[in-house]
Amino acid sequence: MTGPAHSSGNGVVAFIGLGRMGLPMSRCLLEAGWTVVGFDPSDTARQAFQDAGGTPAADAGGAVEGADYVILMLPNSRIVETVISEARDALKEGVTVIDMSSSEPLSTRKLAGSLKEEGVTLVDAPVSGGVIRAVNGTLTIMVGASAEDFDRVQPLLKAMGKPRRAGDVGAGHAAKAINNLMSATHLLISAEGVEAGKRFGLDPALLIDIINTSTGRSGSTETKYPKFILPESYDSGFALDLLLKDMRIAASLAKDLGTPTSLADASIAVWAQAAQDLPAGADHTEIARWVTHKVAE
Ligand code: NAD
Repeated sequence: MTGPAHSSGNGVVAFIGLGRMGLPMSRCLLEAGWTVVGFDPSDTARQAFQDAGGTPAADAGGAVEGADYVILMLPNSRIVETVISEARDALKEGVTVIDMSSSEPLSTRKLAGSLKEEGVTLVDAPVSGGVIRAVNGTLTIMVGASAEDFDRVQPLLKAMGKPRRAGDVGAGHAAKAINNLMSATHLLISAEGVEAGKRFGLDPALLIDIINTSTGRSGSTETKYPKFILPESYDSGFALDLLLKDMRIAASLAKDLGTPTSLADASIAVWAQAAQDLPAGADHTEIARWVTHKVAE
């Protein structure tokens, strides 16, 4: 473990949460010439980060000390809030915290308000594209920030993908949750549709191929089926419980706003049942195998 790192030019970035997404994202920053100090409670994650050229810290406070930017890539809003409160005293004045986790938009707004009083800017910048695009540095990054803050964080975010400003703080997290509610529901209906096709005698690979030049296509049929479901690897790297968390964030936001959630509620109920039936930590693409087993029961 080391003390505060010094910038080689671009500035010092603290990266907290070196998991399936955080580790490859922090690698992209290192490759782009940023000095990155990282923290994750997992020894394996810290070791992999060090092997990639990063500087591991002993705790979140140690990571943020002297950093110009603090990136968070954590499971949820509660953990984001815990980490921020642990590291708060070590945050340098004028620092920008970028929450790239898929967090709750209203909690994000609240946290941004309380940090602002201490001279700390919070920007939300959740991502879409999964582990493959995190490795390639081609994530879609949905940013919630003022136009000025967006301009300031763009050079950093561009090392990990394509940043797009969704609106003011919280807007990125809202866009991300809505995206995942839609994505999960596409995947579920694809699984049910393909299962019906199989029962009829259609070849699933051929059916997906036909759908991919027809109007039923989606990210699920174009990417998830060919890469993870048809080969039966079920290894996208995105856990089912994290996806379910995002669906619930979007539905709860819609309820708060008084917009319809009938399909969202039905989709969430099925995903929640799958989460209960499947082992903890199951990949979200396992929903397709689960639907097959349900049909067979
Ligand atoms: P992950 O579980 O692989 O990684 C999360 C990391 O956070 C773990 O390494 C864990 O040790 C670390 N962590 C937990 N508590 C911590 C704490 N208190 N301090 C520091 N580190 C802590 O999850 P992931 O798949 O990398 O997802 C991270 C975020 O990105 C989630 O919000 C998820 O919804 C979102 N996301 C994931 C994907 C994907 O394909 N995996 C895609 C888009 C968005």
